[in-house]
Parts: sequence; structure tokens; C-alpha cells
Amino acid sequence: MRQKYKAEIDSFMSEVKSRNPDEPEFFQAVEEVVETIIPFIEEHPIYKEANILHRITEPERVIMFRVPWLDSEGNIQVNRGYRVEYNSAIGPYKGGLRFHPSVNLSVLKFLGFEQIFKNALTTLPLGGGKGGSDFDPKGKTDAEVMNFCQSFMSELQRHIGANTDVPAGDIGVGAREIGYMFGQYKRLRNEFTGVLTGKSPNWGGSFIRPEATGYGSVYFIDEILKRSNDSLEGKTVAVSGSGNVSQYATEKVLELGGKVVTLSDSSGYIYFKDGITREQLDELMELKNVKRGRVSEMAANHSNIEYFEGERVWNAPCTIDIAIPCATQNELDESDAKKLIEKGVKIVGEGANMPSTPEAVEAFYENDVIFGPGKAVNAGGVATSGLEMAQNAMNMRWSREKVDQELLSIMKNIHEQCVRYGTDDETGKVDYVRGANIAGFVKVADAMIDQGAV
Ligand code: NDP
Repeated sequence: MRQKYKAEIDSFMSEVKSRNPDEPEFFQAVEEVVETIIPFIEEHPIYKEANILHRITEPERVIMFRVPWLDSEGNIQVNRGYRVEYNSAIGPYKGGLRFHPSVNLSVLKFLGFEQIFKNALTTLPLGGGKGGSDFDPKGKTDAEVMNFCQSFMSELQRHIGANTDVPAGDIGVGAREIGYMFGQYKRLRNEFTGVLTGKSPNWGGSFIRPEATGYGSVYFIDEILKRSNDSLEGKTVAVSGSGNVSQYATEKVLELGGKVVTLSDSSGYIYFKDGITREQLDELMELKNVKRGRVSEMAANHSNIEYFEGERVWNAPCTIDIAIPCATQNELDESDAKKLIEKGVKIVGEGANMPSTPEAVEAFYENDVIFGPGKAVNAGGVATSGLEMAQNAMNMRWSREKVDQELLSIMKNIHEQCVRYGTDDETGKVDYVRGANIAGFVKVADAMIDQGAV
């Protein structure tokens, strides 16, 4: 299919590149979408006539601002803040805030663009957005993180609101940062509204929101397995990262009978030769979320955990049935994909956003590895943020069980949409990338057509 429409795809991409110079992550995300959408549009000219592809790749608004803050020594530090308000055709902008030194406009545009399709797949009324800063919370004191968050929100509050733009967490933005930012918003605006999601359940948050991205990713993988009457029971699973998504993906794999053999951080990975136990997972959560330590410390405390400095989990010395990359973009390249294929991987489900490079994805396709893209697999996080917004709007709170059931049913629905739009008529195989892209695109594009040239 790509070959047949190569000229159209190349011409569109060269225009995107000339309008957005030096934004490699953004090109990668756009190319992955247009490879499947251009063939679809050629067969559905209504979208071509409305010029949807050009409009959807252009953010509605990009905000960039200075964030000055005082460190513990009394020095004034400066970081850069961003909010990319990408598309509001089906609801207020929605998407996380990332605090990491690698944050720049290209990274946030890629994430905001992906978010449009992901949010549409949830079936909830959520537009697409993303934001953050090149601030690094690692190694900072709580007071420094609070100073930064307050300064960041002092500017961001002008641009967001419960019916306008509702940020959440992402890399480097967890419960602590959301708390500080919410406090500053409330102070400046004198209103207690659902302007951020991922809040503590004590003061407006939803149960299951912290767990949602990880749980949802595993629910999606479970749906893939069910199509061939299989389950997670007894499967060996490699998880990367050790943050929010990794922790709860691991928890759900354990609950469903699988064995998680790896976790990592940006310094290296740990290998659990017998699979991580529930007690070891609790210890890891305490280490990462409270003590803010490194995964290497787990190996120091246990003889059956081994630490590999500077290596990725895809090197793990064992067979792997399922891989769930949950750290960051482009953390799994072609050589990693080949290693996984040699180890027998059958399913790769992206807990993170765009963790697999295009070459890695190609290798999976060529070797019949089922590949679930992040915008479908990890959509449970934003879906539960949507449920948090609904609860805030109604001034009420649902039980853990109810939110978890809603999450499960949304993930099943996303899986069904992928199957509906991604199944090959001849082979019956599901192309989850095509399915997710087209299902998300149709919903947003139809709304854009209804609303005219705005
Ligand atoms: P966290 O900050 O909680 O954890 C991130 C993890 O990834 C850490 O273990 C971190 O290690 C590792 N990591 C980050 N950057 C790198 C890097 N450059 N190289 C290697 N490891 C790295 O973030 P989340 O768990 O929230 O997010 C992880 C991924 O999931 C991201 O892609 C995010 O966009 C995506 N996602 C998150 C959602 C959510 O609800 N939180 C929703 C949907 C997607 P270290 O501590 O060394 O930095």
C-alpha cells in the first residue's frame, strides 16, 4: 500500500519538513500516521476536499514561555515552558506535561499530534494537546520542585481551564508535581475546578488514574491474546522503564498470571531471573516513588536480581514472549527488535509513546510479531483522565471498581476499533497501526468537516 502511494506520501512529508525544520520526532510521528492515512484518503475524497491532512498536522496554538525559579542556594534558574494546543475538534485540549531535559518543541509536537488520535480512540470528548519543560526534577529538592511548578503554572494558568485545556502528568510529572501545580492554579484563579487530572483522590482525583496507563496497556495486550484463545498466564514479559506506566503494567501482568523479568531506568536494567515478586514490586514502588532512587539499588538488595549498567532490557538473557516498552521515545531500535525476535517475542505493546523506531516496527511486521502502537495500547491513561473530568464536572467520585470496569471496557472498545479498521480482507491479520490511525482520524476529521474552516 505504501509503495502505491509513495509519491503522495513523500510529497506531503517534504512539505511538513520544510514548514517545521529540525523536528525529527515530529516528522517520525507524522510519517507513521500519513503512511496509513494517505491511502485511506485517496479512497475517501471527502477528506481530501476538506484539506484535513494539512489542517490536522498544524497545531491550533503553540505557547512557549520563560520559567524563572529560585534554587536552594538562592540562584535564579531559567527553564523553558511549553503548551502545544493541537486540536480541539472533539473536546478541550487534553494531554500530559513532561518535565525532562530532552523536552523541546519537536518532542512536544510529536506527542501532541499522537494525542489527537489516541484521545479520539477513547470515544470520550477529548481534544489533543501536550506540554512541559526542559526542567529536570531528578536530584532537585521538594522545595525546588515546588518553586519550579509554581512559576510554571503562573504562566500556564492563562491558557488552560476545565473547559479549555486540561493537562495531566507524563515523564517527570507525577502526584507531587500535579499537587504543586494545582495548588498554584487554585491560588491564582481562586477556583477549585478540574483543570488538571492525575490529582490525589483526596482532593478531586479519580481512583485508578495512577494505575490506568499500565493497566490499560495490559488489558489491550490481553485482548490481542484473546483473539487467538490465549492469555497472559505463564507468559514471560519484558517491561522497560520503572516509572508510573512500568510499575502498573507490571502489577497487572502479575495479576493476570504472567512473569515480568525486567525493569530499567536511563542508567541500566535489572533482570529478575525468577520473575519479579509482588513484594519486590512493592519495594521498587517505594524506591522510585518515595525515595526517588535508582533500579540498581534493587540488585544490591537481592541475590536473584542482576543489574546491567548501560544496557537496555531487550538484551535480557532469556526467552521473551511479550515486550512492553514503557520508558520513552525511540528506546527500541532495529537491533533491539532483532534481539527480541531471536528471543521469540510474539507481541510488542507500546506502553510508552513511540518507543519503537520505524525500523524496529518494520522488523516486527516482517517477522509476524503483533505490534500494538502506543496511541492505542497506552490510551487508558488519558481515558481515565477523561473519567476524572467527568467526575469533577458532576462533583462526585466513582468507586475503584467502577473506574476499573470503565477502563477495561474502553480498552476493549479501542481494540475493537483497531480490528475493524485494521483487518486485512485477504489474510485476516490485524494491522493495529493502520486500525488505530484510521479509527482516530475518521472521528476527528468528521468533526473538523462539521465545524468548517476554523
Ligand atoms: P515516569 O517519569 O514515571 O517514568 C519514566 C521512566 O522512563 C523512568 O524509569 C525513566 O528513567 C525512564 N526514562 C525516561 N527517559 C528515558 C531515557 N531517555 N532513556 C531511558 N529511560 C528513560 O514516566 P511515565 O511512566 O509516566 O511515562 C513513560 C512513558 O509512557 C512516556 O513515553 C509517556 O509519554 C508515556 N505515557 C504516560 C502516560 C501516563 O499516564 N503517565 C500516559 C500515556 C503514555 P529515569 O528515572 O532514569 O529517567
